[in-house]
Amino acid sequence: MGASHYMVIEKGTLGFTVSRKLKKTGWWASDTTELHFDACRVPVENLIGRENGGFLAIVSNFVNERLYLAAQYVAISQLAYQQSIQYAKYRRAFGKSLAGFQVTRHKLADMATKIAACRALTGEVASRSLRGEMVIAQAAMAKNTAADACSWVADQAVQIHGGYGYMRESIVERLYRDARLYAMGDGTREIMKEIIGKTEGF
Ligand SMILES: Cc1cc2nc3c(=O)[nH]c(=O)nc-3n(C[C@H](O)[C@H](O)[C@H](O)COP(=O)(O)OP(=O)(O)OC[C@H]3O[C@@H](n4cnc5c(N)ncnc54)[C@H](O)[C@@H]3O)c2cc1C
Repeated sequence: MGASHYMVIEKGTLGFTVSRKLKKTGWWASDTTELHFDACRVPVENLIGRENGGFLAIVSNFVNERLYLAAQYVAISQLAYQQSIQYAKYRRAFGKSLAGFQVTRHKLADMATKIAACRALTGEVASRSLRGEMVIAQAAMAKNTAADACSWVADQAVQIHGGYGYMRESIVERLYRDARLYAMGDGTREIMKEIIGKTEGF
């Protein structure tokens, strides 16, 4: 689906075909296809790293990958939040701006709070990782927290935008669709919890 971390297999290599393009809910800018391997032989000169060492190569990259995803989810949440503030100030209903309703301001306050919490956690875990600490469980915690927050923030953003938030032309509609992936991609929410459990010893 993403870039191979292990072998360079070029299109046209015997036994390798890109079989089916997949249509996704979101993330349309990223091509996703089924890759079909049938007795595929990879030329020795195309081998990256040690033979049969692919799994270890991928696993060793997981912590960094989960941390940058957490940071990405914080940034996407921030965009949904900013779009919501802008719209809440601009859109008028029942004689005042949406921001004039306490219920809207509280939604925005909750969005800001969740984003701040995720930014703090992700930043702290990233700093510890840069200092050389083992942060396998903490990276999983940061990824899960930021993924859940991003889904929630994007959902609230659509709600604040009302019918316009359901339109393809609004930014938050796209953020909302894209966000559904975050509790799945790069290890599901449930697998992150399994990792946390194992590392914490339960
Ligand atoms: C758009 C997109 C892009 C992707 N990009 C990449 C990529 O670039 N690189 C890459 O390697 N992968 C990529 N993936 C794959 C992604 O990491 C997997 O879809 C994800 O890890 C879940 O695996 P699965 O789809 O096989 O689900 P399954 O493993 O079938 O899981 C289905 C459900 O069962 C739950 N489940 C499974 N096992 C357990 C368990 N032991 N305990 C508790 N619950 C469990 C899961 O949490 C999930 O809710 C991508 C997926 C998508 C949709």
